[in-house]
Amino acid sequence: MRIITYTCPACGTIVAANELEDNRVMKCPGLDCQKVLRFEDFPGEAREYFLENRDQYQI
Ligand SMILES: [Zn+2]
Repeated sequence: MRIITYTCPACGTIVAANELEDNRVMKCPGLDCQKVLRFEDFPGEAREYFLENRDQYQI
C-alpha cells in the first residue's frame, strides 16, 4: 500500500491524505502555519490513486 501524503507548500509539514480527505479542507497542522490545505491541491495522480484505493486507508 502506498502512503499518500501532501506537503504543505508554506511550511513543509507532511499531512496524510486520509486526514485531508475526511475533511476536504483543513488548516495546516504545522505550528504557526495558517495555510489552508485542500484535497483538490493534491497532485491528480496521487488523488486518483487514493480514491481508487480508499478502502485500504480506512482505519
Ligand atoms: Zn503549513
